[in-house]
Amino acid sequence: MNKFEQLGLSESLLKAILDLGFENPTEVQEKAIPLLLEKDTDMVALAQTGTGKTAAFGFPVIQKIDANNRNTQALILSPTRELCLQITNEIKNYSKYEKGINVVAVYGGASITDQARDIKRGAQIIVATPGRMQDMINRGLVNISQINFCILDEADEMLNMGFYEDIVNILSTTPDEKNTWLFSATMPAEVARIGKQFMKDPIEITVGAKNSGSATVSHEFYLVNARDRYEALKRLADANPDIFSVVFCRTKRDTQAVAEKLVEDGYSAAALHGDLSQAQRDGVMKSFRGRQIQMLVATDVAARGIDVDNITHVVNYQLPDEIETYNHRSGRTGRAGKLGTSIVIVTKSELRKISSIERIIKQKFEEKTIPSGIEICEIQLLHLANKIKDVEVDHEIDNYLPAINNVLEALSKEELIKKMVSVEFNRFINYYKKTRDISNQASGSERRDDRDGAPRENNNGGATRYFVNIGSRDNFDWMSLKDYLKETLDLGRDDVFKVDVKEGFSFFNTDPEHTDKVMEVLNNVQLEGRRINVEISKNDGGGRRDHNGRSSGGFGGGQRSSAPRREGSFAPRREGSGGGFRGDRNSAPREGGFGGRSSAPREGGFGGRSSAPRGEGSSDRAPRRSESFGDSSRPRRPRKD
Ligand code: AMP
Repeated sequence: MNKFEQLGLSESLLKAILDLGFENPTEVQEKAIPLLLEKDTDMVALAQTGTGKTAAFGFPVIQKIDANNRNTQALILSPTRELCLQITNEIKNYSKYEKGINVVAVYGGASITDQARDIKRGAQIIVATPGRMQDMINRGLVNISQINFCILDEADEMLNMGFYEDIVNILSTTPDEKNTWLFSATMPAEVARIGKQFMKDPIEITVGAKNSGSATVSHEFYLVNARDRYEALKRLADANPDIFSVVFCRTKRDTQAVAEKLVEDGYSAAALHGDLSQAQRDGVMKSFRGRQIQMLVATDVAARGIDVDNITHVVNYQLPDEIETYNHRSGRTGRAGKLGTSIVIVTKSELRKISSIERIIKQKFEEKTIPSGIEICEIQLLHLANKIKDVEVDHEIDNYLPAINNVLEALSKEELIKKMVSVEFNRFINYYKKTRDISNQASGSERRDDRDGAPRENNNGGATRYFVNIGSRDNFDWMSLKDYLKETLDLGRDDVFKVDVKEGFSFFNTDPEHTDKVMEVLNNVQLEGRRINVEISKNDGGGRRDHNGRSSGGFGGGQRSSAPRREGSFAPRREGSGGGFRGDRNSAPREGGFGGRSSAPREGGFGGRSSAPRGEGSSDRAPRRSESFGDSSRPRRPRKD
């Protein structure tokens, strides 16, 4: 009897498991499945992404529902469209030998009528994102009043994204007698609140230590100057020719900019963020899964549902605002027992965050130095030599050999090898000869205002900091409060900044020229019958709070706590905004090249599709910091996106 059989699973599930090639249950499966099969119970399971959670709730739910009854019996809520589709797929795979089970995915960005029709045909299991589910309930398109099971997957992330109210509303329309299974990587207060409100004596299981990272992921950081962030990213890619990675940025804007720059510089990269249309996102994910994209540049929210095997590296191009988010990011690699590396590109002023993360993940970071140009050339050269050694010869080439021999016959073996690899090597050496060492340059020139996205002008005065008596209790987050203030005060796009929303109050900054207006106008405004009170804050603008990172838990505080949590909710949609996924470039065949990475240079070379330097001596085509992503495109003040 194998270990899955011991869990009490049905024949049809065991057959599907065999097809899937799962040999042994994962820890969460081993702990959750027997309990959920045996008892009608609520459960709270603390488990990271990539631990096999979907099967841990999927197997029991499939086994417990009545396939002969076409009513909806189970609702699975998940934070993102991608995750929703992924869970639906997995459930379909698991239940393929169960007759009569229908699973329907319900998510925004696709036809609600089609989804309603699919449900009407009889869907025992609905997998939904909270927003669309709420919408369907409001329109009377779905009936979940008879369900027996409600599963909240990645509950912390759903709440992080601002779905608290939707979840509460949805749960309120379900029967009290149902069982609720809550899966979450972490247990912040809001998740605990949901648990308390909607669950009865849940069994709690924990997989691994709470908040700890996966043992299969090693963590590295590279210290650079803020202006060298992008160059560092390129070098890391060049130093890992077979990199298959997710590169995380904090904002949609940076995500787009970094991806565009990478594509421009010849790497196979694409952006994934909430401003892309559904079709664009699907296209990007398809290419990534198919490995036509080596570097997927993504926001945290958009990458949330990504379950792609064999990701070699997670790159934190910018650190996230919340410590838990680091865990989610690094969990994209080192999945299913494979090894992975989580890289952080960090500036000196952010170094203390590394220690905070270490404390939480209970793992040490290794400090590494960005490889020098020469080291990269060496790596690439050996990579190329190995590639030549391993390449499978297509005998079509025999037809051309006489002509090729004619050209090359005068060369000795040594000369031939030298020349062959030089075709590619020259490009790298020519490029890197001209570049400087960028590693560890933050020392001695620590610039506190190097922080990406942080307003430079208000570290030490300059700006006026205000205290205002409205906050998250009034349904504001930093983006909506910023919008509200701009509108109420009739100020420009960047005139209100460093908005920091707490529960009952908030802080924000303006330049001093607006101080009189802010005090006069805002102190005479009412919000839902309550007078707004604004005062000039003694707090010096939150600049220092950012640096010491001690102000509000996490590792942010101050400005950091105002980071985008609800991507997509306020940000403008830029359908077809271009430059998301550069399908034209990225759809090129993948192999070849000195690094075999990028799609750009078709001219010359050994497949010539590789990365940084394009074309012989093409230093002009290498990224020029002053014009490129560097400082110029970095937002100087917090932005909506
Ligand atoms: P999840 O945490 O549910 O997103 O699962 C992460 C990945 O592990 C998915 O690709 C699953 O198909 C895979 N997986 C789940 N359970 C097992 C298992 N027992 N053995 C091997 N792989 C598994």
